[in-house]
Amino acid sequence: MESLNELMEHVPPFFLGLAITLFGLIIGSFLNVVIYRLPRGESLAFPGSHCPACDKPVKSYDNIPVLSYLILGGRCRSCKVKISPIYPTVELLVAALYLLLYFKDGLTLVLLADAVFVSLIVPLVFIDLEHKLLPDKINKPGLLVMTVLRVLAPDAWINKSTEEMFGAIVSSEWTVAIIGSAVGAAVGGGSLWLVRRAYYLVRKEEGMGLGDVKMMLMVGAFIGWKLAFLTIFMSSLIGSVVGLLLVRVRKGSMKMEIPFGVFLGPAAIISLFIGQKLMEWYLGFYS
Ligand SMILES: [Zn+2]
Repeated sequence: MESLNELMEHVPPFFLGLAITLFGLIIGSFLNVVIYRLPRGESLAFPGSHCPACDKPVKSYDNIPVLSYLILGGRCRSCKVKISPIYPTVELLVAALYLLLYFKDGLTLVLLADAVFVSLIVPLVFIDLEHKLLPDKINKPGLLVMTVLRVLAPDAWINKSTEEMFGAIVSSEWTVAIIGSAVGAAVGGGSLWLVRRAYYLVRKEEGMGLGDVKMMLMVGAFIGWKLAFLTIFMSSLIGSVVGLLLVRVRKGSMKMEIPFGVFLGPAAIISLFIGQKLMEWYLGFYS
């Protein structure tokens, strides 16, 4: 029997890319439900979508990602209250990320693992932005799932037979992946925990929640300790620049107003895409 990969070679890449983009829009639409309901303690499944202002159920034909928002002019069909532009933004963002990941990974298990990763990061960023909260309900299962995927992902299952897969399980390759995942989580979460501790000792107040530490456990477990370091470094950099800009615009205090997860998320995704290249480029200065 042909392997899935060989079978997929007959499908033009354009259609695969299109299918993955559409899938991204649908997942993005689901993540909007997560972003809105999870921090409010509501069920993700019931009731169906309804307008937060007038409570009218959203008809299925008004629930098409991005398209419905454009057709309705960004307003609820019944009460005409404005729908948050965050909804189509999340849908487009997830679709774009999925497509870019497909360009990076091809149709492999790595693509699946990377797609799950960004689908955990995106809701964390938007929930943190609105509620200053990184829910355990995402971080904890996220750590487990990303560890498993990290361990599986080096061996794209599409190209391997069952015997090869079984052989790999008992070989050292998997042990290396498991250790790599544990070290990544320890370094990612640990270094952020130290920063948090230091901030507390200097300022005598909490500058960062434990949610950020847990988020970096998950990020580190998947992308490894080097990219976890890069993520923390980049998010501090982006955070400082945005913080300084906000101080100038609002002439406010230097206190951090934007929760750190909002910077950790994009930095983790940038690291996933080009972290390796960034590090090689940076280290190139010294060789
Ligand atoms: Zn309404």
